[in-house]
Amino acid sequence: MMPRALYPGSFDPITYGHIDIARRARRLFDELIIGVFANPNKQTLFSLKERKELVEQALGEEGLTDIRVISYNGLLIECAKELEVEAIIRGLRVNSDFDYEFQIALTNRDLDSRVETVFLMTSRDYVFLSSSMVKEIKRFGGDVSRFVPRAVEEALARKLQEVMRKGKERR
Ligand code: ADP
Repeated sequence: MMPRALYPGSFDPITYGHIDIARRARRLFDELIIGVFANPNKQTLFSLKERKELVEQALGEEGLTDIRVISYNGLLIECAKELEVEAIIRGLRVNSDFDYEFQIALTNRDLDSRVETVFLMTSRDYVFLSSSMVKEIKRFGGDVSRFVPRAVEEALARKLQEVMRKGKERR
């Protein structure tokens, strides 16, 4: 068996926390695919296409060149079936992630019991790191270089400028 895993998420944008999980998962599975998902419940700053490109650039910067990146706008479990993966990877930070992740993992198991959800614990450095925190820091002019690769930092600067300009035009 060639265990293959799918690491899904919004990645709006990808952070070193996500990359840490991807690196750990890559050590355990022969093949890792990162799935950038369109989440109808989340209003994202970056488009699906932009998020996918940023994941690719970030992985390139980190030398993780053997991870495939796809985007998907359907149900996670359907994507997992199409790709014939054995596992879905999710990252765990503080306990606030737990209830939500538990619910999703059990639901996915109901939908298809062959796909196992595997949780990997984040490293100490990234326990409190999230995409929303990075966006907030950047919005207020803070330095995010410790949290995201350079390509992401630059994209954030461009995007926030664009958003601010549009906001001004509307006023
Ligand atoms: P979603 O909308 O699917 O939750 P996210 O991009 O927010 O998408 O997160 C994708 C996955 O990465 C989730 O399992 C999340 O817990 C995990 N993750 C996000 N940030 C970190 C981090 N700093 N350390 C470990 N895992 C993380």
